[in-house]
Amino acid sequence: MKFDRFSSPLGQPYVCEIEEVPLYHYLPGNSVLVLEVPGCPLRCPYCDRPLLARSQDWSPYDPARVAAVVEKLGSEPRFAGVVWSGGEPSLHWDNVVECSRKVHEAGRKVAAATNGGMTVDLLRDSPGTVDALLVRFKGFADETYRTLGSPAGVLENTRVLVENAIDAGIHVELMLDIARSTPAQEQEFSAMLAWITQDLRRGIPLHLRIVAPEHGFTIHQGPVMPFLENLVESGRRQHMGFVYLSNCHGHFFNNTMCPNCYSVVVDRTARPLDLSFVTDGKCSHCGTDLELTLDKEIS
Ligand code: SF4
Repeated sequence: MKFDRFSSPLGQPYVCEIEEVPLYHYLPGNSVLVLEVPGCPLRCPYCDRPLLARSQDWSPYDPARVAAVVEKLGSEPRFAGVVWSGGEPSLHWDNVVECSRKVHEAGRKVAAATNGGMTVDLLRDSPGTVDALLVRFKGFADETYRTLGSPAGVLENTRVLVENAIDAGIHVELMLDIARSTPAQEQEFSAMLAWITQDLRRGIPLHLRIVAPEHGFTIHQGPVMPFLENLVESGRRQHMGFVYLSNCHGHFFNNTMCPNCYSVVVDRTARPLDLSFVTDGKCSHCGTDLELTLDKEIS
């Protein structure tokens, strides 16, 4: 479905499966309305949305219009709500808050994908605005962020954001961009795993996003599949519950496996998504908690 009034000519709101965001453990099998906003403080050479990320062309979403579309979509089965994406949603936070309030009034959920622009202060000043967050890390070293034109301190701010969001009861999933098959990339992955396993919890979903050259940029040595599969295996050896190769569509490592008995509990190649091996958020085979947020009221 197209939503016919978007202030930027660079993107159109669209409806997709929540797995495409990607959010794999939040209301799996539901659809969402994705609202994109322009602008991004980073300058990733591999950006797949460069026009949107660098656009100044913006006027806010109309909250009444968002509410009307959400209400209409809500009459369809398994519609969860809205996901803010871009670009960087925190650059247009007042509009995000205003529209999200309407989405909540309609009884639906709000998620946002941030590249690190969102801060603890924004979350604290507008409690309840988001129910779920996808927090994208561009790397796990200050040097990597510096090469992307990032202001100092973004990595640390992003870590603090994640810790506070979890404490506030927000569903959080993490993403890490993988641009190279290099020891430096492996080290950043290991550093991120250490942070997750020591300071967060092992069941938080971690999406590895393989970045590819587009729009005229060239990556001479992109990541290769054995390297990526090794990262996932390495996460498992460190007892991370859920590490995914989220943009390798159809790859086995997109499935949710029970971290205890290794049964495939969610096969992401199946449509509609088959949740028959999940019982009350637990593995049907061994009863292990799969850290899924299932909302039975949304059907
Ligand atoms: S953070 Fe995302 S939107 Fe921003 S420049 Fe990088 S890839 Fe593009």
